[in-house]
Amino acid sequence: MKLKKKAAYGKPQRLKFPAEEVANNWLGYAFDAYYRADAGVAKAIQQEERNGRKLACAKGCSSCCKSHTTIPIFPLELLGLYWYVSKIMPAATRNRLKPQLENHAAGGACPFLLDGACSVHPMRPLACRHFNVFDQVCAEGEDAFHTRREDVLTPLKSHQDAAYEAMLPFHGFTTAEQQQAAMQHNYIQHQARVLQEIDWAHLAARISG
Ligand code: SF4
Ligand code: SF4
Repeated sequence: MKLKKKAAYGKPQRLKFPAEEVANNWLGYAFDAYYRADAGVAKAIQQEERNGRKLACAKGCSSCCKSHTTIPIFPLELLGLYWYVSKIMPAATRNRLKPQLENHAAGGACPFLLDGACSVHPMRPLACRHFNVFDQVCAEGEDAFHTRREDVLTPLKSHQDAAYEAMLPFHGFTTAEQQQAAMQHNYIQHQARVLQEIDWAHLAARISG
């Protein structure tokens, strides 16, 4: 499979793994969340482009995956990464990823960055989907959020919230009332962990040689 850092921002597509979705009902919540987030990002980018900005992010551009060392990840996303790496990722890629997962240390580059590209691109977390920079490619080690906030896309809150809302059934919030209360209390945001602080050796252990 060809690896990509960022999708070209055309019309976002919901991920399609119908048999997997039937077998794992939680997967649909993740797909919905990512679809809603991607739609919001595409819309926000279009708005900026109409104002003359040009998206700097492109395939093969990945210094952000090394310089950002506290990427938030939610429980459903963690499960999604386990699923993707264990079941969908081509075996050859998975085997090359294994030592990175085994040797990953907190504070380092994202362990899913392989050959300068995201090896889990379809299931990359919301934080990665939302982080987009305009006009100038980030310098090695630069975190544009701190060096030039004005060039960093601000995600559309309505779409960001819609993505969080899509995750709520996974946490047992199924009625409209429950979901409304959970959103008011930022329930999903409170579940965040730091991707780089997770012990990815557990995932590596699931990968046979
Ligand atoms: S955020 Fe910066 S480093 Fe990452 S893809 Fe965009 S321009 Fe490249
Ligand atoms: S999951 Fe890792 S490699 Fe993929 S886009 Fe996010 S930071 Fe980069």
